[in-house]
Amino acid sequence: MKKIGIMGGTFDPVHMGHLFVANEVLNIYGLDEIIFIPAGNPPHKRGTAACSYDRYIMTQLATLSNDRFTVSDIEIKKEEKSYTLKTMLEFKQKYPEAEFYFITGTDAVIDLPSWHNPGELLKICRFIAVLRPGNSLEDAKTKIEEINRIYNGHIELYQAPMLQISSTDIRSRFKNGMSARYLLPESVEQYIVKHRLYLETENEF
Ligand code: NAP
Repeated sequence: MKKIGIMGGTFDPVHMGHLFVANEVLNIYGLDEIIFIPAGNPPHKRGTAACSYDRYIMTQLATLSNDRFTVSDIEIKKEEKSYTLKTMLEFKQKYPEAEFYFITGTDAVIDLPSWHNPGELLKICRFIAVLRPGNSLEDAKTKIEEINRIYNGHIELYQAPMLQISSTDIRSRFKNGMSARYLLPESVEQYIVKHRLYLETENEF
């Protein structure tokens, strides 16, 4: 059975932490490939700093050199809010035999009960909740155990040593004229500079 990792996030912008995590999870869980899905119009947010198109292009640039990584425009090409269940149902239809692993940050996963139909979503994919260094492991464990119990889900916690890097910090660096070199791929850095992204925008969404 094919195992597909789905890397969900706003990727505003994508950085080395995301790429490192994707590669680690691919190896640890024996996945065949990882599909990055930049969120289009996140249901729970006021907005994003860079537009969908720029976040999609940056994710394409970042993943270009890895033939096990691809990027899907399934969410960014839609006007309506992007619910993960809807996205996953479309993938399930496309790859009926595959096993799916949805990979995203722990902060997002612990909010799963407020997502659209979490019970149905947890039936069709496993989750890998990525914990940043500095976030409470015990809190995350307790909340994830509770969600697994309520929905009979398969959510696993993955502690990511490299996820000290954050998109929020990177946006703030561009806004304040500080170097973000080596925190993200050079091509992504060049894209941000060329298109003057993150200079004016608010940092928190
Ligand atoms: P986000 O703001 O981009 O991420 C939340 C946190 O997780 C941030 O700390 C982020 O760090 C980290 N993160 C994001 N993507 C990651 C990844 N793939 N691996 C490791 N860490 C990651 O994302 P979000 O808006 O909360 O959404 C995350 C995913 O959940 C998206 O695919 C979104 O569509 C989905 N979601 C769905 C619903 C729904 O269906 N109702 C509701 C909420 C979220 P960085 O800032 O450094 O990336």
